Amino acid sequence: MVDLAPLQSEYDNMLRCIRCAACLTSCPTYVVSQKEEEGPRGRIAIMRAIVEGQLDITPDAVTHLDNCLLCEACTQVCPSGVEMERMGIAFRDTIAQQTPGKQQLAARVAFGWLFGDLGHFRTLARLMWLYQRSGAQWLGQHLGILRLLRLAEMERLLPKVPNRFVIPRGQTLGSGPTAKVFAGCIMSTAFAPTTEATARVVAAFGSTAEFTRAQVCCGALQAHSGDLPRARELARQNLQAFGDGDEPIIVNAAGCGAMLKHYGKLLPEDPRAGRFARRVRDVSEFLASCQPKHAPRALDLTVAIQDPCHLLNAQRIFAQPRELLRAIPGLKLVEIAEPEVCCGSAGIYNVTHSEIAGELQQRKCANIAATGCEVVVTGNPGCWCQIQAGLPSHIQVRHVVDVLDEAYAK
Ligand code: SF4
Ligand code: SF4
Repeated sequence: MVDLAPLQSEYDNMLRCIRCAACLTSCPTYVVSQKEEEGPRGRIAIMRAIVEGQLDITPDAVTHLDNCLLCEACTQVCPSGVEMERMGIAFRDTIAQQTPGKQQLAARVAFGWLFGDLGHFRTLARLMWLYQRSGAQWLGQHLGILRLLRLAEMERLLPKVPNRFVIPRGQTLGSGPTAKVFAGCIMSTAFAPTTEATARVVAAFGSTAEFTRAQVCCGALQAHSGDLPRARELARQNLQAFGDGDEPIIVNAAGCGAMLKHYGKLLPEDPRAGRFARRVRDVSEFLASCQPKHAPRALDLTVAIQDPCHLLNAQRIFAQPRELLRAIPGLKLVEIAEPEVCCGSAGIYNVTHSEIAGELQQRKCANIAATGCEVVVTGNPGCWCQIQAGLPSHIQVRHVVDVLDEAYAK
């Protein structure tokens, strides 16, 4: 007997849906499939029928709910205040309590080992660096081994891993009030140069950037896969690491920022969690509220801006990265059509749902290419990987911070 308690706790949220259809054209899975059960309204109807006892948790129901990217595009436009991510996580939490299959168990162990200790994550990143530099990657690609093992697509998503990582030990940069930088797992390893640039730009905007010691992974991947106990464990470690002060916590990955801002809801019984969540700022949100120490240098670039779902929908951040980029002389900012439609990255969705993710990737990349840009900027590592794997090589993908670093700090 499945315990429906987590899903039942979202019943009021489900009842808010008035079936108006305002969300359908923003929903990426509806846009590509045109099927009701692959849209927000259909998914809510499925969950409501399960809670009301009219439907069992069938494999079909699980598929439609598991296809949701938890991108929150529907939440953003819903006139009734439906919150889809909360509902989707509650469903996954409910499902996770059933006897997990071998694949899920393996994923749990791997996630637990990898993300439970950033030292483990760095070991994996070092192995990837070795693989990319040793010639093994070249051999795999050119002898067709990766294609044979059906790993070629997955491999294209990998960024080039640098040989130096950011290891938060309390090191600081700059002068002024302290801003604590959340380094994350992927951003401190595969995107370490961008995280170093984040500290430089925070310093150039008048603060002391601190890489706070003892911080851990944010827990977003665990929460999205229904492993809430592990997500809560990581959240408690971060509460301890960042302490009860009032310094802002600066995040350069939209997915991590959205998760950290969610700690108050994840740990409602812990008063520290709500206070922590209120200190969290996306790096663009923080910088837009500060004054740079000096004027930016000119950059002669045409830049398209991609809005990560966890920035645009989950954190409602749209204007700040645009304001920061428009302040750079010579930089021409261009907009991408269908900004609200997800690129298909969504954590590990592009690995677990490669077909739908591939369609969304092509759609996003075609929209980016149509702008005629030389550079496209994003604020999330998952989006970075997903769009760079689908774009022609003459368009460079960069983090917003890397462009700001060039203009203000480097
Ligand atoms: S916009 Fe909101 S109320 Fe309307 S169908 Fe979508 S989820 Fe339901
Ligand atoms: S969260 Fe995204 S994918 Fe899921 S139903 Fe809403 S718009 Fe569709």
